[in-house]
Amino acid sequence: MSLTLFLALAAAAAWWILLRLLRPYRPCGCVAKPQGGPCSRCKGARQVRRFGATAVHRFFWSVAGEAMQRRAHDKAENAKQKAGYPE
Ligand SMILES: [Zn+2]
Repeated sequence: MSLTLFLALAAAAAWWILLRLLRPYRPCGCVAKPQGGPCSRCKGARQVRRFGATAVHRFFWSVAGEAMQRRAHDKAENAKQKAGYPE
């Protein structure tokens, strides 16, 4: 595989993931439904999750959540040391 093709694929994948992080929903095409009852796809919400959005979000928050937890822990440790908290 050539480098250019690889870079193009990587960029496309990054864009695909970013799009799903920022815009996980797409409008459901059920507005013009002639009659009766909420749509079976969106259940009347008029929008549905894009394919892959759930997986992308689950992965993103598993990584980002861990980093946030670590940062909060470090902050607490620093505050403890600054305050002279006994061990
Ligand atoms: Zn719908």
